[in-house]
Amino acid sequence: MITRPKPAGRDALALDVRAAIRDIPDFPKPGILFKDITPVLSNPVLFTRVTESQADAAAGLQVTHVVAIESRGFLFGAPVAQRLGVPLVPVRKPGKLPHRRVREEYALEYGTDALEMHEDAFGIGARILVVDDVLATGGTAAATRRLVEKVGGIVVAFSFVIDLTFLHGRQLLVGTSVDAIVEY
Ligand code: AMP
Repeated sequence: MITRPKPAGRDALALDVRAAIRDIPDFPKPGILFKDITPVLSNPVLFTRVTESQADAAAGLQVTHVVAIESRGFLFGAPVAQRLGVPLVPVRKPGKLPHRRVREEYALEYGTDALEMHEDAFGIGARILVVDDVLATGGTAAATRRLVEKVGGIVVAFSFVIDLTFLHGRQLLVGTSVDAIVEY
């Protein structure tokens, strides 16, 4: 496992985020305990602390681009990219991106889904920080890493607000450093 030092103040931040996250049972379907991050968005001070901490955790990795995963990843990825001073690249559900795309499929509980990214989003050797709100089984993040590698980029780290560790998503992300503010 790749471990990196946490930014200063991370323990206090983790407590505040944990207190803000709202658990919604049986959403969007029975048996899922949905982690609702909207109370973080509605608290500007907390929201800023979260995204600044995500960016600061990537300091020293020479990140050249932030790749944010549709759709809640966009909310966190955009301010992280601005704080790092690097371009933001959206990874989207099929049919949303207008220009030439690369595509990766990934397994769901039943069936498959796919993600797309513009093929000219960055050049060979780009150093990518992937941002999303929640790491669950890791399928979405792993497919995003494959998309990045398809066009010659390297994922240098993943950054999540929440890691649902009991789903072992990190096992699909072996070889890349994973940062999460709160673990359940
Ligand atoms: P996975 O591919 O299983 O890691 O799922 C990750 C994606 O699903 C993320 O984009 C999350 O936004 C969403 N997600 C999965 N499980 C949850 C959950 N319990 N609460 C909130 N979002 C979730």
